[in-house]
Amino acid sequence: MNTSFENYLTKNNYTNFNLKAVLFDMDGVLYDSMKWHAKSWKETMDEFEIPSTPEEFYLYEGMVGSTTINYLMNREKGRDATSEEKEAIYRRKTELFTKYNDGGLIPYAYDFVKKVHNQGLLCIIVTGSGQPTLINKIEHNFTGLFSKDKMVTAFDVKHGKPHPEPYLMGLEKAGDLLPNQAIVIENAPRGVEAAVAAGIFTIAVNTGPMPDSVLADAGANIVLPSMKALFDNWEEFKSILVNK
Ligand code: CA
Repeated sequence: MNTSFENYLTKNNYTNFNLKAVLFDMDGVLYDSMKWHAKSWKETMDEFEIPSTPEEFYLYEGMVGSTTINYLMNREKGRDATSEEKEAIYRRKTELFTKYNDGGLIPYAYDFVKKVHNQGLLCIIVTGSGQPTLINKIEHNFTGLFSKDKMVTAFDVKHGKPHPEPYLMGLEKAGDLLPNQAIVIENAPRGVEAAVAAGIFTIAVNTGPMPDSVLADAGANIVLPSMKALFDNWEEFKSILVNK
């Protein structure tokens, strides 16, 4: 495990970590919502007669909705989606997601966030989601643990994941931190790519149906099977990450 940290430092020309903030992806890391996203996408695409599989939406997780729609439209119909189509498809997907989503948390997500928050680390959410009720939801489930003005959502960025912009903005909102002053917790390959492109040490928690290799291939520095595994290993990681 220690070599993962050493490899990162060597590759990014740092001598040490100086951890100040933990940047959290939301869906699939904090909320057990990916199954509802995948189901909503699949049903929406069926309604719009665009062939897809329920599994593939796990691969597009973290991307902005319009990008996913345009990708499938090109693949299946050989053309770009019009802005009207993007809007109608995304509206329907959001409607179904709102209907299905039960708001369940990933096991140990709350415990982990509370632990690192209590250790004095800044907790920041970096999500491609643009749900209007997101801030209230976070405050309800993670009361006082994430600061509202430091959240990065779909409304803040020009480029969604896998572009590094969301995570670079996360560093900025955390107080103009350097990449070695933060880590990212991600569950999706596109999100891992975004975090790695931003130069940040990335821990992937595989809470979905994909093999671990998908996350390792995307560049994750460490791949863990669950948030519980992250919770259980944290003290060891922290001893390397926090500069004493
Ligand atoms: Ca995610």
